[in-house]
Amino acid sequence: VNPIFGKSGTSIFEYMSRLASETGSINLGQGFPEGFEPRELIDAAVEALQSGPHQYPPMMGLPALRKAVADNAKRFLGLDIDWQSEVLVTSGATEALTDTFLALLDRDDEVIVFEPVYDAYATLIRRAGGKVVPVRLAPPHWELPREALTKAITAKTRLIVINTPMNPIGKIFDPEELRFLADLAIEHDLVIVADEVYEHLVFDARPFHSLFAVEGIRDRVVRIGSAGKSFSVTGWKVGYITASADLLQPIARAHQYVTFTTPPALQAAVAVGLNLPDEYFLGLRKTLAARRDLLVKGLRDAGFEVADVPATYFAVANVAPLDPEGDDLVFSRRLTLETGVTPVPVSSFYGDRDVKSHVRFCFAKKEETIISAVSRLRRWR
Ligand code: PMP
Ligand code: GLN
Repeated sequence: VNPIFGKSGTSIFEYMSRLASETGSINLGQGFPEGFEPRELIDAAVEALQSGPHQYPPMMGLPALRKAVADNAKRFLGLDIDWQSEVLVTSGATEALTDTFLALLDRDDEVIVFEPVYDAYATLIRRAGGKVVPVRLAPPHWELPREALTKAITAKTRLIVINTPMNPIGKIFDPEELRFLADLAIEHDLVIVADEVYEHLVFDARPFHSLFAVEGIRDRVVRIGSAGKSFSVTGWKVGYITASADLLQPIARAHQYVTFTTPPALQAAVAVGLNLPDEYFLGLRKTLAARRDLLVKGLRDAGFEVADVPATYFAVANVAPLDPEGDDLVFSRRLTLETGVTPVPVSSFYGDRDVKSHVRFCFAKKEETIISAVSRLRRWR
């Protein structure tokens, strides 16, 4: 049974993490960083917890954080955002997605997603009454499939969801692809949800292009960010939405009844994070790129076929040559039990679980963790 697209069973990330912890395996499956939290952020959280306040912050989020979200987007992407009317703080990107789907979908509205797709989208869209319409990207280049996408649009289509940079494949949508998406949205009167949680995790001096910056589309984009990714604090669950005031309003109404607010001390600390100098963001990219290189080389030396990783903190390996059973979930379990290294199967990113040849490894780890993982894998062959 597909644990993901079934009846909201245990997510594959939870499942593989539990298996790793039960067997003492190095967990490179679920995406969470090890040891990257900026000191300034932790200090700011401690100080805010000591000084308070501890009561409900404003429903839209602390002004300091909303300003910081707008300022960060101005600094890195050149976006002009009115923090008062165009920014909403949520409890993680997951809540941002939930609020957006609850607010914008009516029963049986269709939502186009791109496979391989982050697991939460389909479940949340369905729970909000929508219908998931997957459109598949194909390796090795993972280009936007323009023809299939255009064909997938019907009179019922309401939203397109994109994730750029894209989990698990590390794709950064290029300006021509974003233009094409924007034109489609305008032509068919659609809204695009742009999950941009990995916006700061781009490597080798590659630029990140936000859909929000594309001319003429601003009023149709729900842009989502996450402190979990930008500051390596996935447990904090602080996210943010940027959208034009008219689009944000119904989403804020949903937020009002989903979580209403997010812990104020964490909001204050994330504001400090977003205002950190450029060196922090560039330093994170540089360190992650070095870890990527270490893992990718190690995996290749151990016989895995690994694609280049332009962004995110995931490396995807084609395991077909190593996997006689041709099932990435079975392979992921086997790798965990036989080598003590845990990936996640990429089939979980497909609604039909029919692409079973790849597994994903997270490289946002300490150097020594990656070295141990790689040496375990090398011994296995
Ligand atoms: N979107 C994508 C593409 C992700 O990879 C994640 C991280 N798991 C999320 C959303 C959720 O982010 P958060 O932890 O802030 O809810
Ligand atoms: N987004 C994380 C990943 O892709 C997982 C988050 C979760 O466990 N739901 O690994």
